Amino acid sequence: MDKWFGERLVKWYEKNGRNLPWRADRNPYKIWVSEIILQQTRVEQGTPYYHRIIKQFPDVASLAAASEDEVLKFWQGLGYYSRARNLHTAAQNLVDSNNGEMPDNYEGLRKMKGVGDYAAADIAALAYGLPYAAVDGNVCRVLTRVFGIETAIDSTAGKKEIQKLADHLLSKEHPAEFNQGMMDLGATVCLPKQPLCEECPFQDKCTAKQLNKTNDFPFKSKKIKTKDRFFAYLYIELPNNKFIIKQRLNKDIWQGLWEYPLIETKEPFATETLFQQKSIQKELSKYEKLTIIGETKEIKHQLSHQTLHARLIKCRASSAKTEENERIISHDEWDEYAIPRLLELLTAEKENMFDNTKRQK
Ligand code: SF4
Repeated sequence: MDKWFGERLVKWYEKNGRNLPWRADRNPYKIWVSEIILQQTRVEQGTPYYHRIIKQFPDVASLAAASEDEVLKFWQGLGYYSRARNLHTAAQNLVDSNNGEMPDNYEGLRKMKGVGDYAAADIAALAYGLPYAAVDGNVCRVLTRVFGIETAIDSTAGKKEIQKLADHLLSKEHPAEFNQGMMDLGATVCLPKQPLCEECPFQDKCTAKQLNKTNDFPFKSKKIKTKDRFFAYLYIELPNNKFIIKQRLNKDIWQGLWEYPLIETKEPFATETLFQQKSIQKELSKYEKLTIIGETKEIKHQLSHQTLHARLIKCRASSAKTEENERIISHDEWDEYAIPRLLELLTAEKENMFDNTKRQK
């Protein structure tokens, strides 16, 4: 076994590792929560959420006992809400089948909803000292650069090659420090662009640095295709300063979250022509005496595989027929509902930029 790599990494970690709250007491529940938060979220952004969630739900049982709405509310702003739903379901499953205890082995952890190879390996190593190498984007970047691996990391062969190498290099004596060291080195030194090679414990061994090609690694085979979606949100003001919100129930982005009634189109739209379409008019007939007041500018909101082009159209109506997943609420009640970040942005836009120009439908 090439011990040099693990020894250098652990030594570097002991001196330079970040002091992150979930590393303090090796509690598997806290590590799990942090793992799920940090999937697709940076440490700086995720840490305040971690503190709030752990304060509100200090253990598996309290998380399981919460309602989904409550959990989503604590997740609001982090995005990728399926993570929160999976966390909640997994906690309920643990209460039902394991007395609310976290599994103490890799296989058991891996079976938990929302826990993939990386999270299971990291929890196993950090909470229980088990010898599992956790491989994510940071690890891929460090290893492909140090060892000059040109296999595309988004291919099956590339994934296998990196995992095999990480398993081989893993320090069996210090698996937790090894995994955390990889994470910290990738996040703070071996940065995607302009890595800080002068601070790196592998600078004398790193192939990419020696070739002066750090930006070429890691190699990727395909570009992510993104899809454009066009959203017209209807902010429908009703008497007594009330308005309508609707829960997203479909298997789509933001399932379970709340938003204003939405018209989605495949192409960019002009509000007047949109409102004249027969199918839309049928939908709008639920609202009595509907008048358009104005609209915000378009906000472009980037998700991993989708670009959302959203506008908020402010309307007024004298009454509305609501569906089962709709509510008529006041502004004070709005805070009780979990909403996607895009809705926060559009609401702020509405409050900032609305003029009083009235346009009749
Ligand atoms: S020497 Fe530079 S490119 Fe190589 S692993 Fe270290 S930080 Fe990354």
